[in-house]
Amino acid sequence: MATKNVIPNYINGAWVASTASETLPVVNPATQETIAEVPLSPAADIVTAAKAAAVAFPEWRRVPAIDRVQYMFKLKQLYEANKDELARICTEEAGKTYGESIGELQRGLENIETACGIPTLMQGYNNEDIARGIDEHMIRQPIGVTGMVAPFNFPAMIPLWFLPYAMASGNCMIVKPSEKCPRTQQRLFELIDEMDLPPGVLQMVNGGKESVDTMLDHPTIRSISMVGSTPAAEYIYQRAAKNGKRAQCQGGAKNPAVIMPDADMDKTVEIIADSAFGCAGQRCLALSVVITVGEAGEAFRERFCDVAAKRTVGYGLDEGVEMGAIISHESKDRIEGLIAKGEAEGAKVLVDGRGKLVEGYEKGSFLFPTVLDNVHPDSTIARTELFGPVLALMHADTLDEAIALVNDREYGNMACIFTSSGIDARKFRYEAYAGNIGINVGVAAPMAQYPFSGWKRSFFGDLHAQSQHSVEFFTETKVIVERWPKEWHRKF
Ligand code: NAD
Repeated sequence: MATKNVIPNYINGAWVASTASETLPVVNPATQETIAEVPLSPAADIVTAAKAAAVAFPEWRRVPAIDRVQYMFKLKQLYEANKDELARICTEEAGKTYGESIGELQRGLENIETACGIPTLMQGYNNEDIARGIDEHMIRQPIGVTGMVAPFNFPAMIPLWFLPYAMASGNCMIVKPSEKCPRTQQRLFELIDEMDLPPGVLQMVNGGKESVDTMLDHPTIRSISMVGSTPAAEYIYQRAAKNGKRAQCQGGAKNPAVIMPDADMDKTVEIIADSAFGCAGQRCLALSVVITVGEAGEAFRERFCDVAAKRTVGYGLDEGVEMGAIISHESKDRIEGLIAKGEAEGAKVLVDGRGKLVEGYEKGSFLFPTVLDNVHPDSTIARTELFGPVLALMHADTLDEAIALVNDREYGNMACIFTSSGIDARKFRYEAYAGNIGINVGVAAPMAQYPFSGWKRSFFGDLHAQSQHSVEFFTETKVIVERWPKEWHRKF
């Protein structure tokens, strides 16, 4: 691997060339320029990283938690000092706008900050005299060597849903970035390298399926944290579980919003447009289905189409751009194919984002905002995750009918309601089958202090990313029951 543009792996505290014989281009979706080559590391590279982690772990777990979090304080400073550069790299490879990259970085940072509380978050509990003369304690111990598999769409944030908690609670972690967006994580690991951590505690191996399968089968790696599409999440969860590993795998989504006639319509239109078209719809918390109730249909439709048609699409590093590119031409073609299928299944295209070019970036992978009306609840477009800037409109006569439509979905990542009625909002919160609920909020992304609670086929596992869930995921509980009989008391 002599080409200088090939991204190296970070193993045992050093940058090393992958032993891969194959690479994939990392492409800027707006310009179609190749930014770098990502190696498809073979099993051997994961095995080398796992060995280094196994050597580092026994000493790392002995480092007091208060000393371990000092590295997180350092990472916070480095991350903040390099925010602009990280945001530019993120925009170049993921296609989103610079402002969206800055927002993503902020959310990543909040996880670093939250993990600084590990000395307290990791505490156990105890009872004296749980039975006469017997005391019982629960302590948390790190599980050991952990693995993380990242998706393309939040390269600066998603690894940080896991990495700070894993390392601060005494584990070692191997991160496998997305093949499409590995540059941001390369930069993140360059910052990690500046922290002078003991070698082997945090490592990064680039690759694809072979790297992941090796992580899933390797006996040293005790857990897998993964975020990606539902088929990949389900496969990874099952293979990890079969091998006796802990797994938390966050999958795809198809997020609905219910709009009641009493919603503040101007504000609702603005919030839903930001949710559906932000990051060009490539967010697992993007709204992709809207169910209007009663008179809300008419009030929402026209205003929303107007806003959708006016959105400024372009290269995310250019001033004034509100929506960036789709990750690849392949993805764009897939989404356009699904829009055509939606039309064939009876939907009416109110705003058509297909076939439009961005001046100066004619080769770019751009799809403009698209709005479909009369979408049948059982049609392909209503049920398939598109992961693009497309909003499907459905209609219901009552809130009960709308909630039934919300709950009749395969996914349960997020569901939102827009209303000025507390009673309707409470009913929705109570009855909707989704792990993240937005009330007059279009991207109900849990802050770092809360678990990222996907349900149904949006999540495979028990403990989610972030916060206390992460601490529980990355530690094992040990319960000690102890008795010290009086007759053993030594007299000096
Ligand atoms: P993806 O499933 O294609 O890839 C995700 C990761 O899994 C990559 O690192 C990839 O190398 C690996 N992978 C993919 N297929 C694999 C296989 N068969 N075997 C082993 N490893 C495999 O996902 P993506 O396109 O990078 O990301 C977009 C998806 O992620 C969307 O479906 C989105 O909804 C989802 N997502 C979910 C959340 C969430 O919190 N629920 C957050 C962000 C993104």
